[in-house]
Amino acid sequence: MTKIAIYDSTLRDGAQAQGISYSVEDKIKIVGQLDELGIRYIEAGNPGSNPKDLEFFTRVAALKLKNARIIAFGSTRKVGGDAASDSNIRSLLQAGTQAIAIFGKSWDFQVTDILRTTLDENLLMIADTIRYLKQQGMEVVFDAEHFFDGYKANPDYALQTLAAAADAGADSLCLCDTNGGSFPEEIFAITKVVTGRFDTAVGIHCHNDGEMAVANSLAAVRAGASQVQGTINGIGERCGNANLCSIIPNLQLKLGYDCIPPENMARLSSVAHFVTEIANMTPNDKAAYVGKHAFAHKGGMHIDAVNKTPTAYEHVDPERVGNRRTILMSEVAGRSTLLATINAIDPSIQRDAPETQLVMDRLKQLEHEGYQFETAESSFELVVRKVLGKYRPFFDLKEFKVIVNEPSVNGVNSSAMIKIRVGDVEEITAAEGDGPVNALDNAVRKALERFYPAIKEIKLTDYKVRVLDSDMASAARVRVLIESSDHHDSWTTIGVSTDIINASWLALVDAIEYKLVRDQERGS
Ligand SMILES: [Zn+2]
Repeated sequence: MTKIAIYDSTLRDGAQAQGISYSVEDKIKIVGQLDELGIRYIEAGNPGSNPKDLEFFTRVAALKLKNARIIAFGSTRKVGGDAASDSNIRSLLQAGTQAIAIFGKSWDFQVTDILRTTLDENLLMIADTIRYLKQQGMEVVFDAEHFFDGYKANPDYALQTLAAAADAGADSLCLCDTNGGSFPEEIFAITKVVTGRFDTAVGIHCHNDGEMAVANSLAAVRAGASQVQGTINGIGERCGNANLCSIIPNLQLKLGYDCIPPENMARLSSVAHFVTEIANMTPNDKAAYVGKHAFAHKGGMHIDAVNKTPTAYEHVDPERVGNRRTILMSEVAGRSTLLATINAIDPSIQRDAPETQLVMDRLKQLEHEGYQFETAESSFELVVRKVLGKYRPFFDLKEFKVIVNEPSVNGVNSSAMIKIRVGDVEEITAAEGDGPVNALDNAVRKALERFYPAIKEIKLTDYKVRVLDSDMASAARVRVLIESSDHHDSWTTIGVSTDIINASWLALVDAIEYKLVRDQERGS
């Protein structure tokens, strides 16, 4: 199997994305996850750029990493200068890493018009910088910025920049599609020229402006590239970077390349989720391989087929990438849909068992009341547990009160009081919040935390309200969907009532109970 060095730039190029700002602690945690996954290189930023980065490099140097090598990233020496006395290069060395990535220009017009120097001086800047870093014992990656656009404009000069780097001792030459507009066949053809001409290892760095970063990266590998740069979830500026969460399984599970230790592949979904959480981004449910809906099935016939033979509508077994099959629940989906959820809880129940009928009846009744479980499979799992008697309440609600005070003071306009019972212990707490639902959420967590400390890990990530058409001429009903997440998972729960607070309460309780059930099953 051909080995591919996976090179993650989530913390460097990924940090250029809009709205991303990692603390030092966040970065250390991400490094830990990437290392556990088996990533070969982690490009972690430019140590010269700010004190936060310096602190990070000091802390990361003390970590004992199993698989990954940390890379400090910076540019070639300044025009007309000297590498040994260049302040940026000095701070790169002070980062204390064993490997450094140096980016340099390979498009002639960028040299003359943006850098405003001669084509020869640019070659010297590349060569001097790399030779000096090699003398200091560094592993050096040369990032040829705008390589593909440069090659299209002036192939001779683009290749000369690579030759300057290779002759100076670069360990790899990374070809960058910096503007992200190339097509797979161009990437293949140009990479093939490079791999045919140089003995040095070749890397690929693609951006996603034409939505082809993954396809382009695979094309480069087929043309002989052995290092692939990208980011977790494809995060990066503009339309993002090449998405490693798609590239890794495509290369390893489909094309037979060796990217990460096979036993680590099942960590992929949780690493993707972890980075989404830390980056405080909304999860992309439709993401290939790792998205919540990547293996979600709806519609009776599909589900029937998937239950018989998963390959009928699945390109890969979800468990191989640490994801799972979900069945979008609806009355019309039929018995086999239900059976999949029922069997996940109790494998002994058969298709025509009375329990299956009971679940079916309960689903019909709830859908009639305005519940819709297609996007709230976590609430549906709790419904099935209740019908099957596989449910132990974690707490009893005695009562709650919510008071709204307007005008608000510092964003707080509501308070909630709640009385619950856990076993023989009764707990009364009160909390404030921004709006009645937030106050209620705060109060119920505060009340339950002493019994179930894991509740602290739950984050409420989305809250949606829909007013349902009422055909009963009474008050309109509302449906509340709450999305929650912790470091393992994200889940959606539902509540329906004529009263928005009550509907929210039902969804909140499900969100908490679902977390506790899952933790119990995981044994954590
Ligand atoms: Zn980039």
